[in-house]
Amino acid sequence: MFAQPSTLFKDRILVSACLLGVPCRYDGGSCSYPELYPWVARGRVVAICPEVAGGLPTPRLPAEIKGAGAGLDGNHVLEGRAWVMRCDGLDVTAQFVAGAEAALDLARELDIRTAVLKAHSPSCGVGAICDGEFSGRLVAGDGVTGALLKRAGLEVVTEVVWKERHEPPC
Ligand code: SF4
Repeated sequence: MFAQPSTLFKDRILVSACLLGVPCRYDGGSCSYPELYPWVARGRVVAICPEVAGGLPTPRLPAEIKGAGAGLDGNHVLEGRAWVMRCDGLDVTAQFVAGAEAALDLARELDIRTAVLKAHSPSCGVGAICDGEFSGRLVAGDGVTGALLKRAGLEVVTEVVWKERHEPPC
C-alpha cells in the first residue's frame, strides 16, 4: 500500500547517508540501519554525508577531533578552539566545518527540524565521540555537524535513540 501524497514529505528528517547504506564512510563502507527504511519508504528522509559534502573523498583516512579526550568537541571546532585531524596529522577542520554548514543549509532549505545522525562520528556524533587519539575509546561530546545542528535548534539524535523513541510510520 502506498502513502497518500499528502503524507509524503511531511516532517522530514535529515539522516546520515551511511545509515541508509550509502558507502560514504572513511573506509568505503556504510553503517546500514534498516530501522530507518520505513521512513525512507514514506518519503520522509533526506540524506547527507557531511564529510563528503565538505569535499572529502571516499575512502579517506580517518579523522578525529584533537583533544576530545580532554573535553573538546565539535562545539570547540566551530568556535575555532579545536581542530579535526587525520590520523596522519593533516588538518581537515575546514572540510568538516564546510560539511556541517552544508547539512545545516539543507535542513533550513527544506524546513527540517530533526536530524538522525550516526553515533560516535567526529562529524555526526551526538553525545559521544572518539577520544581524538584513534584509540577506539569514546568520550562525551558532539561531532562537528551534530554540534552545529543542535546550535541551530534542531532535535539531533543518534540512530539508536531515534529507534527507541519512534515507532515505524504506518
Ligand atoms: Fe558521512 Fe556522517 Fe556517515 Fe561519517 S557518519 S560517513 S560523515 S554520514
